[in-house]
Amino acid sequence: MSPVAAAERLQRQRSRRVLYALAGGIVTGIGSWLLLQQLALARVSDRQLYLLSQSATSAAELSSTIRANLQTRAIELDLPSRGPDCDADLQRTLHLTQLSITAVRGAMRVQNGVVTCSSTNALPAGTRLPEPMLNHADGLHAWHRVMLPGMESVGPYVVLERHQLAVLVLPQEQFIPFFPAGTPVAVYTTQPPHSAALLTPGVSPGLLTALPPGVELLGERDRNTGDLVARRLTPSGQAIVMGTLPASQLQAMATAQFATWQWLSPVLGLLCMLFLLWRMRPGYRSARRELLHAVENQQLFLLYQPVIDLQTGRCTGAEALLRWRQNDGAILGPDAFVPLAEQLGLSYRLTERVCQVIARELPPVLAASPHFRIALNISPQELNGPQIVALLRNLRSHLRLAPSQLVVELTEGSLADVESALPTINQLRANGMAVAIDDFGTGYCSLSYLATYPFDILKIDRSFISAAGTDSVIGPIAEHIVTLSKSMGVQSLAEGVETAEQAERFRQQGVHYAQGYYFGAPMPMSQILQLLSADPAT
Ligand code: C2E
Ligand code: CA
Ligand code: CA
Repeated sequence: MSPVAAAERLQRQRSRRVLYALAGGIVTGIGSWLLLQQLALARVSDRQLYLLSQSATSAAELSSTIRANLQTRAIELDLPSRGPDCDADLQRTLHLTQLSITAVRGAMRVQNGVVTCSSTNALPAGTRLPEPMLNHADGLHAWHRVMLPGMESVGPYVVLERHQLAVLVLPQEQFIPFFPAGTPVAVYTTQPPHSAALLTPGVSPGLLTALPPGVELLGERDRNTGDLVARRLTPSGQAIVMGTLPASQLQAMATAQFATWQWLSPVLGLLCMLFLLWRMRPGYRSARRELLHAVENQQLFLLYQPVIDLQTGRCTGAEALLRWRQNDGAILGPDAFVPLAEQLGLSYRLTERVCQVIARELPPVLAASPHFRIALNISPQELNGPQIVALLRNLRSHLRLAPSQLVVELTEGSLADVESALPTINQLRANGMAVAIDDFGTGYCSLSYLATYPFDILKIDRSFISAAGTDSVIGPIAEHIVTLSKSMGVQSLAEGVETAEQAERFRQQGVHYAQGYYFGAPMPMSQILQLLSADPAT
């Protein structure tokens, strides 16, 4: 692809990414906006229904208290056994009755439907009441919406009568105070046509319905009007107290509630957009997919770098080093993808692949050189769990390798987390693997780690090998490491040996093994086999 075409493609990808992220952000913003509105409405509905139900219950309970008090008082007074006179004594008695029952506006004696005496002078004796609207089994009679002469200014009343004792109740005084100001309230009989003792403006007549059998309290959102409605059966079971919250008011409350949350929508939209931009950042998805594709489609292969025994000059082993053959034939070195695999949590997949390839390629070499040592590299995260031990144990047993014939190379970075690294290293060694510390001297390894970790081989980093014998300040370090490894009783290996002088220098210092371009660059296993067959001692 030409540089211009590549730049255009990159530009297109970038614009598409921004567009997708923007679309994602907008959809999330709008979606959360709608959702929050619904949530606000649901929350307000729940709260208001609860309040309405509470109010209706308290109002219904008061109506039962009035009935019970009337009952008690009627039995106490026993008016039927009293003479017909409406004397001062009876008037006073009626007045006391009026005062003793909450929410009662007047008390009367009613005989055969005619008021014969009353606690209030405004109500003239001789007033005839219509037929009662309700006749209860317990002897209680009730009238709804009664207009009494002389008392029209505050009516209509509910009249309740028992044993000739009747009380006047103003339903708006009895029921409305229990509800929040302005709440439309109705009190109506359970039986159709649901005659109403109280019907304040704002109650649509269609809402006056019976409760389902067995239900005493019902709070719901009316499907037709959208109003909230709470209906409560009075304890007598003959009337229903209903409070409503009109849909328009409910909506206004929900909107006010939503106003306190609405800032969340743009924030969520923005967060979603940033997340999408991050997820779609160049290289994120494609790198993961490409790397997995490479693992699964055998684009990863191994080269092996000979390891030479410096005292005998013979190749006694090799280090397996990964390579990635790209679709266009280009070969990538591990530095280009191993760190990426570590970042994406795919290191174990790479090591699995390394083990598969070694299992396939090593047997001819083992046939030619049964003690041949094979080393492989693992990433720090792989020491975090037991998986790696099982994988390498399988490889060892598959190839029937003797103890220490399989070498696991760890960098110093792997050793930082003692709690997870130490048990894994112990298990690796317990399972017959040799452990080598790679690139020794370049990492974060403090010398105290050397005492903490059991290991078998110290690999002296090639920077110290190339500096040895020069005027560089790090010139003497390689020699110090050799002395250190001798004092610890572990084997040493000089990495990156490029000249005969370096090889000779470290041989004289007693270094056991060496690796480097002087002896051979990383090569296919077939070339290792040739190298071994050229050695007359093999
Ligand atoms: P390393 O383990 O230190 O491997 C030695 C590296 O030094 C190899 O680079 C090798 O080609 C290079 N080398 C060998 N002899 C010489 C020499 O004489 N002079 C110079 N200048 N370089 C020499 P390579 O193959 O590119 O590997 C780089 C690193 O990638 C390795 O460093 C190792 O840390 C990592 N690596 C390789 N294969 C794997 C693997 O399978 N898994 C993991 N986790 N890491 C791997
Ligand atoms: Ca290595
Ligand atoms: Ca190394």
